[in-house]
Parts: sequence; C-alpha cells; structure tokens
Amino acid sequence: MSESQDLIAGRYRLERHLGQGSFAETYLAEDTTLSRQVAIKILRSQYANDERYALRFEREARAAAAVRHVNIVDVFDYGQHDSTLFMVMEWVDGPNLKEYMRGQGQLAPDDAARLMRDVLQGLHAIHEVGIIHRDVKPQNVLVDQAGTAKISDFGIARGALDAGLTDTGMALGTAAYMAPEQARAGEVGPAADIYAAGVILFEMLTGRLPFPGENPLQVMYHHVNEPPPDPREFNPAIPAGLALVVMKALAKEPEDRFGSAAEMLAAIEQPPSGEEATRIMAAVSPDQTRALPAGAAGGRGRRPPPPRRAQRRRRSPRWPIFLVAGMLILFAIIGIWFLATRDDTPVADPTPTPVITPTPTVTPEPTPTATPEPEATPTPTPDPTPTPTPTPTPEPTPTPEPTPTPEPTPEPTPTPDPDEDPGVGSEMQAIAFNAMVLGAPSSELQGVDFEGSFQPQNWDNLPELSTFLYSEATEYSSGEAIFVSDDVAGSVFVGIEMTALTGGPSEELPIEIWINEILVFRGESPFDSDDTETIRWWFRQNGAIETGENTIRVQNTAEQGGVGEPPWLLIDEVTVYYR
Ligand code: ADP
Ligand code: MG
Repeated sequence: MSESQDLIAGRYRLERHLGQGSFAETYLAEDTTLSRQVAIKILRSQYANDERYALRFEREARAAAAVRHVNIVDVFDYGQHDSTLFMVMEWVDGPNLKEYMRGQGQLAPDDAARLMRDVLQGLHAIHEVGIIHRDVKPQNVLVDQAGTAKISDFGIARGALDAGLTDTGMALGTAAYMAPEQARAGEVGPAADIYAAGVILFEMLTGRLPFPGENPLQVMYHHVNEPPPDPREFNPAIPAGLALVVMKALAKEPEDRFGSAAEMLAAIEQPPSGEEATRIMAAVSPDQTRALPAGAAGGRGRRPPPPRRAQRRRRSPRWPIFLVAGMLILFAIIGIWFLATRDDTPVADPTPTPVITPTPTVTPEPTPTATPEPEATPTPTPDPTPTPTPTPTPEPTPTPEPTPTPEPTPEPTPTPDPDEDPGVGSEMQAIAFNAMVLGAPSSELQGVDFEGSFQPQNWDNLPELSTFLYSEATEYSSGEAIFVSDDVAGSVFVGIEMTALTGGPSEELPIEIWINEILVFRGESPFDSDDTETIRWWFRQNGAIETGENTIRVQNTAEQGGVGEPPWLLIDEVTVYYR
C-alpha cells in the first residue's frame, strides 16, 4: 500500500474540515509537493455524475482562476479524483464574514467600511473581466489574519462568454442578499453584486438584515417590493454618508445603484452629500424619504428607532396589495424558470432517472401544511387558493385534518439556522414549493389509501390510517393510490409531500415513487427512523399529471426482508400538489 493512495490526486492530504455547502465540502489540506497548506473543495460524489453540477463546478474553478487579486480567493488546481471533482485554492486562515460578524452585534463603522472596501475591490476586479458573482454574501467572504476580506465561492458566477452553460431564467443566489431583479429572474448584471454588497454593508453596520424573514419566499418578496429601511434607524452611530451609500446600493432599480463597484468604493471614501443625497433618497422611495433622518441632507440629526409596532401599522394597509403583486411576480418567476428549463429533464424518459431532489423539510407532523404568509399580519388574505380535492378515503375518521388554511398560523417549519448556508438548490426548491403550496390544488391521501400495502390492524402507537411497505420478498412492497386532479392544462410543476417513517437503517431502504408510470424519485428513504418525518419533493410537471384520475405508487425495492421486518416504510400521509 503506497501512501499516495491517501492523497487526493497523489498530492493533497486532507487535514481538517473547513466548511460545507449543499454541493461541496471544503477541507484544509497539505500540498505535499509544495509543502504548503491549501484549501480543497470537493464536490459531493452524488453530484459528480450529474453533468449540470460538474459543469457548474468547473465553471466555478475557471471563474475564480480568471482573476488574480488580493481580494479574490486564488485557485491553484482543479481536477478529478476517484469519482468526483476537486478544486484547490489558497487557504484563507480565518473566519468567513458571517462568522466574523457573529457575536459582535454591529461592527464599528470604520471596520465595516474597511471590509466593504476589500469586497468592492474584489468585485471590481471580477466585473472588469466580465464575471458576475451572483452569490455575494458574508459566508462567501473570507477574512484572513491580517483582516483582509477575500471573495470566494464562484459556484454560480457567470461570465459573458459562457451563456450557453447557464440556467436560463433561474433565480439563483441566497434570498437574504438577492437583488430584486435576481429574485424576479430578470437580467442580472454587476448591479446585482453591488446590491448584495449593500446588504452586507447594512448587516455589518446594524447587526441585522434589511429584510429579515421566515422563509426565502417572504424575503424575496420584500427585496422586490419593500423600500429598504434606513440603517441609522438601527444604529444612530452610523455616519449619515455611509448610510446613504447603503441606501443607494439597495435601490430597487439597478440603474439607481452605483454604476460600478469602483463608484461605490469612491462613495465610501467621499460620501455623497447635498444634491446627490437628495437624489438617492428620492430613488429609494417617496415613503422612505419621509422616514429618513437625512443627516447629510440637512437633517434632524439622530433619532431612535421607531417602535416596531408603529412601523408595522404604517405599512399594514398597503400590504395586501403587495401580497397579491408579490405572489403574481413569484408565480411568474417560478413559471418562467420551469418553462425555461422544462425540456432538459427527461421526466418521461423511457429509462427513468430520478428527476427530483428531496427537500428535507422537517415539518413536525401532524401540524397542518403551512401556508407561508408574506407577513404574519391578521389581515384576511385575498387568496384565490382553490380548496383541496381530497380523494375519497374509505374511512373519514376524525384525524387531524391537514387542510391548508388561510389563517395566519405560526410558521410550523423550524426556521433553519440563519448562518447555515442552505445552498442555492435547496433554497430554490423551498421557494418553488412554497409558491406551489400557496396556490396549488392538492390531493390528500392517507397511508391506507395505498392499495397493495400492508394495513396494520392493531398497532399501538401508530397513526391510525398509516400503512406499511415491506421488501420485495413479500407481497406488500408496493402501494398504489388514485387521486383525481382538476384541469391541469398549463400546470408546470408538481409537488409531493409525504409523512413517513423508515424501519431499520435508512441506507438499507431503497424506495421509488412513481406517478402514472413515470419515475419521480428513486433513492434511499429520506425519512427518519425514530419518528415520522415530512419530506417534500417537487418536479417539473411535463405532462406527468393528467386531468382526472392519476395514480401514485410508492415502492419498497429492498430485496430482503419479510412482513414485519425491516427495512420497511410506514406511510402516514401523502399530499400531491400541482399547478
Ligand atoms: P459552498 O459552495 O459549498 O458554499 P464555499 O466555497 O462557500 O462552498 O465554502 C464553504 C465554507 O468553507 C466557507 O464559508 C468557509 O468557511 C470555508 N472555506 C471555503 N473556502 C475556503 C478557503 N479557501 N480557505 C478557508 N476556508 C474556506
Ligand atoms: Mg458558499
């Protein structure tokens, strides 16, 4: 056994884990050839065989390598190892900016301005060569021992030249830092990176986000519709000029922001005042002009933050309009995105491939399905949500009804750790799913609706209407249920929400989900083995669901195991959404 077998590409020895995202893991490693420490980012092996992820990963390496700049994390090497891909980078010995900010509340304005200068210099360098980062956020800014900030993670960066590789119309990026045009899946240019830099500057100065929210949908909605708050409302110590820089970077219209990162940098050095300040305020919104202390524009000086409730009351009469407009925009986004990409996934391929990715939303059941509300205000929603069409259940026993309700319920989905990078993919899935839940007709099924499965008679501690799928060695490996859909003409996506429990270790339970003989999921059971868990999937409709009767089949494809033996799947409830 040679020692080089432990090395990546015969050269890099992993030392410790540095960080992770949805698609990759990053490690500190020793480059044994040059005897130096490097960072190595390794694409998770399950994505390496998917051309789309592999291309994106390669694009990331190329984008980062295209620029050499002190404020950009340098890329040294890129290649293939075993069945996956890796990228070798300069190791930045220090926290990312999110970690740097954590616990500090607000950064001193000087510190924030200094870090922002680094970020803007880095952005200017990439924009100069035609690259747009598109995912500028504190987790992707690393701060070294000398306090220098460096931009990393070009995972969704895009150059002018490789347009052929991009996902047309796809709204990528993390919601909290997402420019309105990016949220709308419109044209994204350098101004989107400038907007994100503005959000970071706001966050450094105030210790909070300009548009906090409980879910990505709500946050995107605010980026598109709500005027940004003045950072000085949260920290009066912020110099008025710096607050203006933030406001200008956060303008809704790209052309109202700084023309370039260099321009924003210059404004930090030489803050706008007088006429320029008035123009910025006017661009932000008429409302906002009133609300601002406007120190630079001849002001009333410092003012304590207004009480939250007062702020809310001021806004509440307008929000139903925003809600409807926002929903329409979001449906348009999702619709465009799905339409734009609908041809490249072989949903109906004769050799079926798993076409959907589970979004493990750990909804504590039996909580009713959440209807995400852009704001938890008790205003009646002018919601055109069609009522769910429940398939006739053999036994309508009084179980907790999982009916989507327009009532503002406290968000039942546990809010993910805001510092955790959920990754672009999962976020988009969440958004698509939420949008879907808001307006989609749904069919609700109980475990017992799945014919062919094993229906327990007297099981203690089990939900009454649940059902078991045992291995293929038994006659209970497959359960099929019928659901009836309304007119689905024009519907573009389908979601499946399943509450289930895995019996035995989940890696030993392979399952498949089919809709009308189209395979929509094949993989290890994503369900927990201690307690029932709700998992959501979505996929593009592509004709999978027909108007009228449809079948959904869930299968336990394990080869070994008898009745009452693991690996089994216990299905509690299934809801199908389509739109
Ligand atoms: P992802 O695409 O998975 O988000 P990133 O490149 O953003 O991956 O890396 C995730 C985390 O790993 C970063 O937030 C950071 O904490 C750490 N990390 C990434 N690259 C480096 C590096 N070159 N040096 C030190 N830490 C790094
Ligand atoms: Mg990242």
